[in-house]
Amino acid sequence: MPEQTNGHINGNGNSADRPREPIVSPYQPKYADPMSNVSSFKIIESTLREGEQFANAFFDTEKKIEIAKALDEIGVDYLELTSPMASEQSRQDCTAIANLGLKAKILTHIRCHMDDAKVAISTGVDGLDVVIGTSSYLREFSHGKDMDYITAKAIEVISFIKESGLEVRFSTEDSFRSDLVDLLSIYKAVDKIGVNRVGIADTVGCANPRQVYELVKTLRGVVSCDIECHFHNDTGCAIANAYAALEAGATHIDTSVLGIGERNGITPLGGLFARMYTGDKEYVKNKYNLHKLRDVENIVAEAVEVTVPFNNYITGYCAFTHKAGIHAKAILNNPSTYEILKPEDFGMTRYVSIGHRLTGWNAVKNRVEQLNLDLTDEDAKAVTQKIKALADAHGALSLDMVDGLLKKFHEAKEEGTHKEVLKNIESPAQITV
Ligand SMILES: [Zn+2]
Repeated sequence: MPEQTNGHINGNGNSADRPREPIVSPYQPKYADPMSNVSSFKIIESTLREGEQFANAFFDTEKKIEIAKALDEIGVDYLELTSPMASEQSRQDCTAIANLGLKAKILTHIRCHMDDAKVAISTGVDGLDVVIGTSSYLREFSHGKDMDYITAKAIEVISFIKESGLEVRFSTEDSFRSDLVDLLSIYKAVDKIGVNRVGIADTVGCANPRQVYELVKTLRGVVSCDIECHFHNDTGCAIANAYAALEAGATHIDTSVLGIGERNGITPLGGLFARMYTGDKEYVKNKYNLHKLRDVENIVAEAVEVTVPFNNYITGYCAFTHKAGIHAKAILNNPSTYEILKPEDFGMTRYVSIGHRLTGWNAVKNRVEQLNLDLTDEDAKAVTQKIKALADAHGALSLDMVDGLLKKFHEAKEEGTHKEVLKNIESPAQITV
């Protein structure tokens, strides 16, 4: 059993003969919903487009290429890049990444203009994501165009892109504050001329999972092309909305690493993996290289000068740490008791923390076994009581301290003085490590 040195012990336990699979929820539907794509979705990774809109983001060409390669290793289906119209450097970067020969398809994001489409096609990308605002706010305060104009423009631009042989998506902006009849009629019109995907974007983060389900389900009945969804996280629903969209028949979800983007960002790649893994573990594990998630998060976190949040999905420092005595006991018997994600599937390690006042003797006994000490259950219980008393008085003990205490107790037991020795320890300073 490998030892850990940061105050935790590895809690894989002696579990060879124990069931390891997470227990299936009784609330899981018995039969697969034919509408649902939770077992066949695709990821459009937008760290290099939406992520560039994060307050701290500035990626030079080298950094963009590093991120693109790291995401390609994970196996995301698409990479979406900032519009080549944004700046001359953005245009050159599009060309550079399109020419890397990555497995992921390369997309760039453009306004619904012929000029944008022409420049974007010349960069050598695989496809274009075209966007235009349809909400009354955008029509009144942004571009000022009516639906007839928008529809005619969309048809012109999409037809042109298709003639160039590129994949094309057409998305509205602020879809959840757009009129339903307007939305459905424009999606129907572009579906008819062979657009590859239509996109729904919750640009302001106002949607909830039920609204998403309803809108996507309605749209699914109107178009035959793929459906992409883009969810902002202003109200904390970005992952749940993505899941609801896939259940309703959406096919593609936009993500960014750590969720970075405009304001507080969009559906995070890691959070989407966590959610989808619980929906269909085999699909997610076989399709994506989940062990690479932490690497790309570290690259992006460093580049945009943030730390990975302590409570981040999968890679947060305490995501697989078990502390309460009751949890520790059960985890040591069968990790699935308190874990829906297997840390080893993501290249992570489980920890059971034992040097604190909430500890339990089963976890301490497990450490005794790891250290190969010949102690009984009664001994483990006695030491556990001492750990609790010391932690109450002096705060949590490090794993070295716990080990020191156990070893000291063990030595004293050979001389028959263990009870006395334990009684006399009143502060961690008396434990020689
Ligand atoms: Zn966005």
